Amino acid sequence: MGIASINPTTGEVLKTFEPILAEELEAKLALATETYKSYRTTSFDQRAQWLRKAAELLEQRKAELAKTMTLEMGKLLKIAVPEVEKCANLCRYYADHAEGFLADESAETDASRSFVRYLPLGPVLAVMPWNFPLWQVFRFAAPALMAGNVGLLKHASNVPQCAIAIEQIFCDAGFPAGAFQTLLIPASQVAGVIADKRVVAATLTGSEAAGASLAAAAGKALKPTVLELGGSDPFIVTDSADLEAAIATAVTARMLNNGQTCIAAKRFILLESIAEEFTKQFTAKCAALKLGDPMSPDVDLGPLATPQILNELEQQVQACVAAGAKLVLGGQPAELPSELAAGNFYPATILSDIPAGSAAYEEEFFGPVALLFTVKDVDEAIALANFTPFGLGASAWTQDPAEQERFINELEAGAVFINGMVKSDPRMPFGGIKRSGYGRELAGPGIRAFVNAKTVWIK
Ligand code: NAP
Repeated sequence: MGIASINPTTGEVLKTFEPILAEELEAKLALATETYKSYRTTSFDQRAQWLRKAAELLEQRKAELAKTMTLEMGKLLKIAVPEVEKCANLCRYYADHAEGFLADESAETDASRSFVRYLPLGPVLAVMPWNFPLWQVFRFAAPALMAGNVGLLKHASNVPQCAIAIEQIFCDAGFPAGAFQTLLIPASQVAGVIADKRVVAATLTGSEAAGASLAAAAGKALKPTVLELGGSDPFIVTDSADLEAAIATAVTARMLNNGQTCIAAKRFILLESIAEEFTKQFTAKCAALKLGDPMSPDVDLGPLATPQILNELEQQVQACVAAGAKLVLGGQPAELPSELAAGNFYPATILSDIPAGSAAYEEEFFGPVALLFTVKDVDEAIALANFTPFGLGASAWTQDPAEQERFINELEAGAVFINGMVKSDPRMPFGGIKRSGYGRELAGPGIRAFVNAKTVWIK
């Protein structure tokens, strides 16, 4: 189906949308360009005022926005609510700090005065995924708008109501018409929008294939991009780790958002001495997770967002077992009440004894499936952690300062969290290396992603 809200809990089609017509797209691009001409000259104070209002509206509409996310993509309502709050905090963070991040930077040269001034670029296209339908968009939009750019959103086709609600927030917050617009277009039209000379840059969060396709189109048009792509983050547990804390965190780190998080811990790399105990307790905790209706407060795991994701995950697990891996938990369709029978449910699943060289060594599993690996020492743990083509995040559990230093320096990832799970935070840059993408969002680097660092020399 094209652009549609389909409840992943029941399979019910909630609402379908026609993609916008060519002339509507043209009008939106024209409006973005027109608005940018005056928006770029607005003060930081004015932009911050609008963004703080957006934060207020997010809080006022929290219940309704959270419910829309749950209905469209199946995340637990109890985690959808904090996602909205996190977006409000992000708006306030950039309202407070944007001016400082973009302040002139002076340099001593042969000029009487020389400095770098950060100026906006123009309309930026953001192609976003469905897994954090609000957060992913706000972490692009808040810094982009504070920098004086205007935003164009092509959201994932399964979350159109979220996309429309986001545009409404910026509009109701007082931003000028055209400062932030949602484009209801299919993925096939993205390259055309990038090629349009009015669009100056693009960012995509999503799969490698989508990232490569967007980067190719942007490369052809010589436009800058930021890419936030997939990951297969390691979660390393050594002998000196606080095992209880590591196991409790491991469950959340893998299962949060029904297992569909780019920075989820996907490969658990365990030192021999603790592997058996970790596996026993981790399996017991995962087995106790309740699968069911994501609206219900006592449910721990909801459905996957689409039937395609469910099919792909089932095939990956079957291929892994066929290659010789051991199914420790799950792997079979769960028994659910009849009203959930058409939902995209997959139970918490654990695989171990994964044969070296099998696809699971390198692939991302985008759902509630944990891969367990046992290694004999830290050297082997680091080598295995770095074996994937991805490099998004990494979590390592050890009390040993020398091991901590090794993980910080040697893990190939955009983020390393010691004795904690990988998470995003407005105050810290977020992004990957290798096939997880390039560029950074959030904090100072996030707002400088789409600006002109203009060299100014005055005699
Ligand atoms: P996806 O298929 O790549 O979709 C993401 C967005 O890209 C959607 O808006 C989609 O539109 C669009 N798109 C798809 N193909 C495209 C193409 N050829 N050209 C231009 N746009 C295209 O990703 P997904 O499967 O929904 O999301 C899961 C992936 O995203 C996972 O790999 C996950 O790790 C990654 N992710 C990464 C981060 C991060 O920050 N690094 C965060 C979240 C998710 P349609 O919906 O219309 O197809």
